Amino acid sequence: MSKITVAFARNAGYGAGLRPALEKVFAPQLAAYGDLHDRSVMLKPNLLTYRGEGSVISVHPRFIVETAAMFLDHGAAKVAILENPAVQSAPAVLRSMGIAEDLKKMGVEMANFADYRPCFTPAEARFRSVEIAQEYRTFDVTADLAKAKTHAMMTLTLCVKNLFGFISGQNRLGWHLAAGQEFSRFADLLLDLYLTIRPQFNFLDAITGMEGNGPGSGTPVELGFVAGSADALALDAEVAPLLGVPELLILRRARERGILPETERAGEVPAAHAIKLPDPPGIVSSWGLPLPPLLRKGMKRFLISRPELDPERCIGCGLCAKMCPPQSLKIVNGKARFTLSRCIRCYCCQEHCPQGAIRPVKPLSMKMAEHLDAVLHRLLRRR
Ligand code: SF4
Ligand code: SF4
Repeated sequence: MSKITVAFARNAGYGAGLRPALEKVFAPQLAAYGDLHDRSVMLKPNLLTYRGEGSVISVHPRFIVETAAMFLDHGAAKVAILENPAVQSAPAVLRSMGIAEDLKKMGVEMANFADYRPCFTPAEARFRSVEIAQEYRTFDVTADLAKAKTHAMMTLTLCVKNLFGFISGQNRLGWHLAAGQEFSRFADLLLDLYLTIRPQFNFLDAITGMEGNGPGSGTPVELGFVAGSADALALDAEVAPLLGVPELLILRRARERGILPETERAGEVPAAHAIKLPDPPGIVSSWGLPLPPLLRKGMKRFLISRPELDPERCIGCGLCAKMCPPQSLKIVNGKARFTLSRCIRCYCCQEHCPQGAIRPVKPLSMKMAEHLDAVLHRLLRRR
């Protein structure tokens, strides 16, 4: 099986160096795809929200504009940007970024996903059918534009995780609820989206990424590179180790399912830069303990980070309560209050809190179990 190329370009920045860097990671993808002339292209950027200059929650505005311009300059007949951010519409986020006018002048269309329908997944998928936005089927090309960020549930969000945006906002909550604390199941869903949609072009904005309390409330981290590949999973497989996460759950599941592609790096590969990660989601998931389902369910509460509120930061806006799939959050006396017994540890509240007032915190039992895990590993290594 031939290896899939993942191309890198360093020292990009969001100024004059951006376009040449994008061209470098675009070239191998174009070679794999072929002629773009007369083709219609749909860009699907991560547009979670925009909180002003220096915001690292979404793909950088210039990254979006330059990618759209690049496709047009390479002959695409039409470029459109589609996404379904949780709170605002896609055009509203692009307006708040200050790029809607530029895009309009370039003839780029902007819209929210709206045509959600169930569709059958390929034979290798674990879920037989998924309800996803169908607009990508009306375009010749789908391009995935992801941001390098930490993610409380999946550790990192790169190109494969960005495909979760194809699921409607309402269904996203349902999937979080269904996956609950079974993070492997959630990873399987993401992999099924990847197998179903298969974007032909994939770009990662890792110029300024996010570390710490991601994906909504982390801090910027200068990484200084862009990456591109004709395969979203290949890109994730090459980038995750560079960011200090060789055992990303999505990659582990892909390997277990036999769908992890062979990859090779090309171009200006950046030095590894281990970013500050959120608390890991839970050691039961990563251990894969063969426990009976009931016991697993009971134990998980003690072995998975719980969401915790910083009351100083909370302004009582209620967005977290609106986003909470099992409705285990409400606003009491102007502050968010958790009912942790109902919480499924999906971290949707943390993702959407505009104040960064929620972060995952390890319970004492989890810290003790991790300590025990480390001791056991040390002992086993000595044998
Ligand atoms: S925790 Fe965040 S999202 Fe929830 S009410 Fe407070 S400020 Fe709003
Ligand atoms: S409280 Fe937060 S982490 Fe818990 S279920 Fe609700 S949204 Fe998910």
